Amino acid sequence: MDLESCRKCDLWRTRTKVVVGEGNEHADVMFIGEAPGYYEDQQGRPFVGPAGKFLDELIESIGLKRRDVYITNIVKCRPPGNRDPTEEEIRACLPYLEEQIRKINPRVIVMLGRHASSTIMDRYNIKFNGISQDHGKVFKISSLFGVKKLIPMYHPAAALYNPSLKEELKKDFKVIADELRPEYKNEQAK
Ligand code: URA
Repeated sequence: MDLESCRKCDLWRTRTKVVVGEGNEHADVMFIGEAPGYYEDQQGRPFVGPAGKFLDELIESIGLKRRDVYITNIVKCRPPGNRDPTEEEIRACLPYLEEQIRKINPRVIVMLGRHASSTIMDRYNIKFNGISQDHGKVFKISSLFGVKKLIPMYHPAAALYNPSLKEELKKDFKVIADELRPEYKNEQAK
């Protein structure tokens, strides 16, 4: 993926670093956030700011380490001032994410926040009823590589200022742990 020199949308003009994603290339779980923020843009790594610290805690709460999972974003360059990515930016960047999903072939895809959730649900033709209704639910899709599970969740950044969302996220992470239990594995081709 020739992402470092990408100029498919205008975000290249203001970015410091492209944030491709990182983690285990054979991960069972892939986390997809919205777009890099200030710290991610500086370091070229996803979820390294305060929301990332909380994400690390959540990952560890289900017995995993950051190095066990793969973490990326819908949009790989920081939108100026952390504004929402535009439809055009999302469309331009989506082929990179699709390639990551194809290569890593995770069993479980967790979308963090409503933007990531609506983009991925749309992509797989699943109706998205909004994050407050659909968070923590498991949506099955069939792919060439077997069944995958999509799970929309609140964004960890939103939860930093809202204790009730923090609790919801903690509960929803248990759903990931359930989906990874060995007895679910026989549904998969992997
Ligand atoms: N928020 C995101 O959606 N992604 C990051 O990488 C960091 C913060």
